[in-house]
Amino acid sequence: MAWDFETDPEYQEKLDWTAEFVREKVEPLDYLFPHEQFVPLDDRKRKIIDPLKDEVRAQGLWATHLGPDLGGQGFGQLKLALLNEILGRSLWASLVFGTQAPDTGNAEIIAHYGTQEQKDKYLLPLLNGECFSTYSMTEPHAGADPTLFTTKATKDGDEWVINGWKYFSSNAKTASFLIVMAVTNPDVSPYKGMSMFLVPTDTPGVKIERNVGLWGEPMNEGWHALIHYDEVRVPEDALLGGEGQAFVIAQTRLGGGRIHHAMRTIGMAQKAFDMMCERALSRETQGSLLADKQFVQGYIADSYAQLIQFRLFVLYTAWEIDKYNDYKRVRKDIAVAKVVMPTILHDIAWRAMQVHGALGTTNEMPFFGMIHGAGVMGLADGPTEVHKVTVARQLLRDHRPAEGMWPTEWIPGKIDAAREKYGEILELEVGNL
Ligand SMILES: Cc1cc2nc3c(=O)[nH]c(=O)nc-3n(C[C@H](O)[C@H](O)[C@H](O)COP(=O)(O)OP(=O)(O)OC[C@H]3O[C@@H](n4cnc5c(N)ncnc54)[C@H](O)[C@@H]3O)c2cc1C
Repeated sequence: MAWDFETDPEYQEKLDWTAEFVREKVEPLDYLFPHEQFVPLDDRKRKIIDPLKDEVRAQGLWATHLGPDLGGQGFGQLKLALLNEILGRSLWASLVFGTQAPDTGNAEIIAHYGTQEQKDKYLLPLLNGECFSTYSMTEPHAGADPTLFTTKATKDGDEWVINGWKYFSSNAKTASFLIVMAVTNPDVSPYKGMSMFLVPTDTPGVKIERNVGLWGEPMNEGWHALIHYDEVRVPEDALLGGEGQAFVIAQTRLGGGRIHHAMRTIGMAQKAFDMMCERALSRETQGSLLADKQFVQGYIADSYAQLIQFRLFVLYTAWEIDKYNDYKRVRKDIAVAKVVMPTILHDIAWRAMQVHGALGTTNEMPFFGMIHGAGVMGLADGPTEVHKVTVARQLLRDHRPAEGMWPTEWIPGKIDAAREKYGEILELEVGNL
């Protein structure tokens, strides 16, 4: 009977090391270099960050999402979940550990579908933390429904020519290359008529029209590019995977990405929770600590209940992925984690902010950033509504319509059936059942 909630002692040691390392050495980077994780390192930053990466490598914790053949540890998702929930406390941590999105997902699909030449050119520098990459799929007029995408790639001799617009191509302004999804055959179903291309960012015709910022960031200095692909010519071998394989590749990529976000969200929500508890125990008003007020106790209990349910569910889903080694088979539960994650973070961060009073609303505390992050999570990698549809469809597959006019659990029908089954044996008057 293997159903266990304990962590192996050796791995627990690694987690303990990680927790202290992140707290003491990585979290300070969030305050020194806020939102600069995807800016290529200058010499000044290298002096701090390269030795930190070396420490991670020495612990055997670099790029743990990848198998040993690609320089990772092949830890699997469950171990990764336990690690990622620690990394979720800091914006810089994923970078220092070589597990930052979107590069992780991009690395996974190149590892899975790339040719040896593509791996040498794109994957190795990515794995060594020497470059950044972008996943360029969403279009300005369509995100949640990829069948509406119109960016196309047409064959011209031994080249592909890409034309169209992409939106929210995160980190494009510092990425070395882009993975672009484009229609290659408009005459078949979109599920079979789109392909993925590896496009160096400096290819002529790749025009970043805007760097869209999130709320609070300066206009046009954000990280989410609106890109015009204007007669972008790439060689035949820029195709990633086979022609028409874009949807299959996208699913491989997003399955991992979504659950990794969920893992890191645990860490962020835990941080908000810890801050709420600290404040409740520190602040006094109207004759007692906040911790003694029943409303505040309610916030704490509700937050813990949400967090622990979410954490156990994410760990369970990670365990399932390891067990079946197939994201598709676990698609429903990954979608549930994706659906739940924004609410968990929003609710806990919101309560933590409330307990901090006016201070909680300021830019001297991180709560609005977390709440904003929760909003983003409800969209990035697909809107919550679409994931709910996935969940419901999969669940309904395991159910059947009622055979007659009445529901199967209709009580009068159940009474009749029970009488038929046992009434005679028991010789009871069962009229009042
Ligand atoms: C911070 C951030 C980073 C991102 N990074 C990337 C990236 O790197 N690469 C990339 O390609 N994309 C990226 N995206 C884009 C993201 O994938 C899209 O925002 C998402 O797929 C939704 O597309 P949309 O924004 O066009 O919304 P729309 O498709 O316009 O949908 C808008 C709303 O309509 C509703 N809706 C949509 N479909 C349904 C439905 N079937 N049923 C019910 N309601 C529905 C939902 O409320 C949804 O939020 C990023 C987004 C964010 C916010």
